[in-house]
Amino acid sequence: MRVGLLKRSHVLALPARKYLVTATASAKIASNGAMSLPTGFKVESVKEVPEYDMTLYSIEHERTGAKFFHFNRDDKNSAFCVQFRTVPNDSTGVAHILEHLVLCGSKNFPCPEPFFKMLTRSMATFLNAMTGPDLTMYPFSTQNQKDFENLLRIYLDAAFFPNLEYLDFRQEGWRLDTKKSADENTSAVAYREKGSENIEFAGVVFNEMKGAMSQLPSMVDHLVRSNLLPSNTYSNNFGGEPLSIINLTHDQLKNFHATYYHPSNAKFVLYGDFPIERWLKLIDELVLTNFDKLEIDSQIQSESKWTAAKTKVEYFQQPQFDKNKPQEVEIAKRQSVVTSAFLIGDINEPYNVYCWNILSYLLTSGPASPFHKSLIQSGLGANFSPVTGFESDVKDCYFSIGAQNVDNENPDAIVQAIDATIDKIIEEGFDQQRIDSVLHLIELDLKHQSSNFGLKLLMGSASKLNHDCDLQEFYSLSQIFDRLRYDLKNDPNFLQEMVKNSLKNNPHRLNLVMKPKEEFFAGLQTKEDLALNERLYKLDQAGKNQILSESVALLEKQTLIPDASSLPKLLISDLETKIETYPSEIVEKDNLPSTQVNVQPTNGICYFKSVFSTEKLTAEERRFLPMFCSVLTKLGAENLNFEQLRSEIDLCSGGFSVTTSVTPHPKDLKYFEESIVISSHALLRNVDKMFALWNRILTAPDFEATEYLKVILKQRYEMLQMSMEQSGHRYAMRSSAATLNAVCAYDEIYSGMSQIALSRQVALNMEIEKYVSLFKSILEKVFTKENARCALNLPESSQSECLNALGSLFSNLNSVSEVRSTASPFWIPAPEIPEIVQKRERLVKYLFPFQVSYAGRSLAGVPYGHSHFAPLEVLSKLLSWNYLHKEIREKGGAYGGGASNNSSGAFTFFSYRDPTPYLSQRTFQRSLDWLQSASVDQEMIDGAKLTVFQSVDSPVAPGSRNLSNFFSGITEEMRQERRDRLFACTKLDVMEVAETYLSERNLKMSGGTVIGPKNEDSNKLDWPVVTE
Ligand SMILES: [Zn+2]
Repeated sequence: MRVGLLKRSHVLALPARKYLVTATASAKIASNGAMSLPTGFKVESVKEVPEYDMTLYSIEHERTGAKFFHFNRDDKNSAFCVQFRTVPNDSTGVAHILEHLVLCGSKNFPCPEPFFKMLTRSMATFLNAMTGPDLTMYPFSTQNQKDFENLLRIYLDAAFFPNLEYLDFRQEGWRLDTKKSADENTSAVAYREKGSENIEFAGVVFNEMKGAMSQLPSMVDHLVRSNLLPSNTYSNNFGGEPLSIINLTHDQLKNFHATYYHPSNAKFVLYGDFPIERWLKLIDELVLTNFDKLEIDSQIQSESKWTAAKTKVEYFQQPQFDKNKPQEVEIAKRQSVVTSAFLIGDINEPYNVYCWNILSYLLTSGPASPFHKSLIQSGLGANFSPVTGFESDVKDCYFSIGAQNVDNENPDAIVQAIDATIDKIIEEGFDQQRIDSVLHLIELDLKHQSSNFGLKLLMGSASKLNHDCDLQEFYSLSQIFDRLRYDLKNDPNFLQEMVKNSLKNNPHRLNLVMKPKEEFFAGLQTKEDLALNERLYKLDQAGKNQILSESVALLEKQTLIPDASSLPKLLISDLETKIETYPSEIVEKDNLPSTQVNVQPTNGICYFKSVFSTEKLTAEERRFLPMFCSVLTKLGAENLNFEQLRSEIDLCSGGFSVTTSVTPHPKDLKYFEESIVISSHALLRNVDKMFALWNRILTAPDFEATEYLKVILKQRYEMLQMSMEQSGHRYAMRSSAATLNAVCAYDEIYSGMSQIALSRQVALNMEIEKYVSLFKSILEKVFTKENARCALNLPESSQSECLNALGSLFSNLNSVSEVRSTASPFWIPAPEIPEIVQKRERLVKYLFPFQVSYAGRSLAGVPYGHSHFAPLEVLSKLLSWNYLHKEIREKGGAYGGGASNNSSGAFTFFSYRDPTPYLSQRTFQRSLDWLQSASVDQEMIDGAKLTVFQSVDSPVAPGSRNLSNFFSGITEEMRQERRDRLFACTKLDVMEVAETYLSERNLKMSGGTVIGPKNEDSNKLDWPVVTE
């Protein structure tokens, strides 16, 4: 299921720790031929990047100094990005709020939110904007050239000529506003009568940052960077500190735009197989002719080096626990997070950056890494600090390491353990097998093809371009790799020396200690109340009137039906009517389960997937199934301990994955398949080793490694808890759908709040013997030949070699009965909704001390093959973009909200980082009323269809192609039928399904969930609180 709304994510959410180089693909070298650039442009350099079959052109626009980069590569999914170095000198979030405002309308496209509108007028495979600590970027990608031009025009106009209107600043940034409640009429008239009572701070970014700055990962991220690099722009909170945001003025924002959003401070990056001339000409016409060169002081100076390490103590909200339960009290004593960060060096040192990416892997990845041993396996912490690894997106790169769930009374133990580990590494060095693993992973990574290569390339290059690094050098991949191999061979102490110089003898080090505080949020609230009272105290009647009239004006503006006619759009008739299909073959071979073979241009890699039915498990075994999956490849197997096993996995593959899956029958929800899916990929020369290793894991996992089992079970709970805090809407959606049918119920048990609750009980009680006996029983029942089917995506002519190797996986797996000859799901009648879900109410609340809430509401829908499925999909997008977005985000102040229709038979509404979940629940319920009163026209229907097609037609990498029948039993005929229905879907069809599925009667049977804090708004929902 794809949640469509949250496209506008931010770099600020959490920096992705990039491991080595970005993923890749291969194709024929595309050529720009003989370039004849438009007047005023000159080519600065040209570089072939054979590893990616790509040519990189650097071009300058002489008059303005604007820089252009073209990655020319044979790939129809083209991409574009314009980026600016933005260096705020306070924490008002000016760069971040500006990024929001830029998306609110511009000179030639004056309609509100052209970006969001384009989501329903384009086939973009990516469309977004991001703010980082020192840059703001606007990237998109699409497979359609007409779309590329449409989007390019809008992006350029938005970035260089935004309207930056006052009311938009108030909506997106911050404002004083009257509190809204769900019980009242929120029309402007009713609002005006109510007067200026109950004033509060509001605004999209204000609420977004309240949410972000209450979550541990983003807090640690900000505090590490701002304290380690205190003398330049990094000392500020680039996203905005809520109580600083309220000091930002509209004029300051406009000045910031005038200063930094200028061609002389811009980088334009284009990716795709096209002659660059055409686009340069267009960009010149639309943008560059309007500007002259400007000297812009946006350079970031290197941080001056410290002479001694520093320690900083900060606080966060104490997680909830039950004071009457001794085990919970014990856990509460261990909540601190300790992180040590070391300044490493300048971003413009490609070789050093490359080596540090590798070192970071050796130091922290997997159980054989020294810091995993000393910080996690030692029991000092349950998991690594959320900011662990090498950060190479800022001017001065740094490495950080630490742990969470650390004894509140003894945070120093972590710092001492880090020091001792560094000494040990310098003394003993790294295991040669692990170094070989890294070199293998680099090789594999260069060949592995991801689904949006261009976009990844743009994202990976952004920081380097932002700091004027020489991209040509960064993409000299073979030279860098060769140099590394040479250095490793000629200097056995090469890596140890780096550790010694950059960690041991490095006084520029920050030790950040985060301690839990019970009244942390209360303290924040008091500060906000004080700031509010201060403002209110100074307000005279005229000021109050102004707040009221601005609120009314904003509401009126939000209620207007926007005129999007100025925006270009793709037509439904521009789309392919036929589905894309690929040939495949089902192989039935002695000793092998049925295997689907897809010959694909996989660049010398074999992609393997196998599904094992879990129908024979008991209810209790099913609850523990996700836990079983998450530990299976992490323990040892047949004479390999857990460290050795991980090394072996990294030596032969890109990683082993084991997950649970619940698949609804595409025609009848009374049937489903429950299964374990295992998958991995390997270079052809390693396929033998990969399958042999799987066999050892599936037949002889080492469940007796109980001490280590405890460590990973604790770690798992911490990770699940963190994922719930960050993506609470997904959990709210699963929970609200759970009571609809067995498929949704099992999805909740496997991946929802119930699984987090179970994992918490496990972390508290650790009845290891019980778990081990459950795991053994699962192993025996599931991994048999007759339960399995397989799929291989591989390059031509490697088929027999790979099939032979696959035989070794199954060579000694039990087989009680005949293997089943089908390479599609084994349908079984879906059982009753399990008791654990049944005994729960349909409408429930989960209380956590978060700053904001997440809401979900689910109504019964239909399976994939049903004739109503396509109109319901269109309905979900229609509501998302024309109703829910407006009500929940613009009016309600949530970060996002929408509706989604999935093949498990659930039609689900959701909200994300929501200050008023009660209001949102009302909004969900009023959807049908809105539909009946709104004048839905064909254009809105077409827009909704286009967004459905965006996900249907999103590119799939060769390693994952042609698997919908294998995984879901969805045949080509069904896919074509659904596509035909999407094309044919009319307004009447949509209204009909809306009246059927969103009816009062269905609403009474719906499920609902709110996850969030106990407050005035959530108290209005008199739903029971789930305590387990
Ligand atoms: Zn934002």
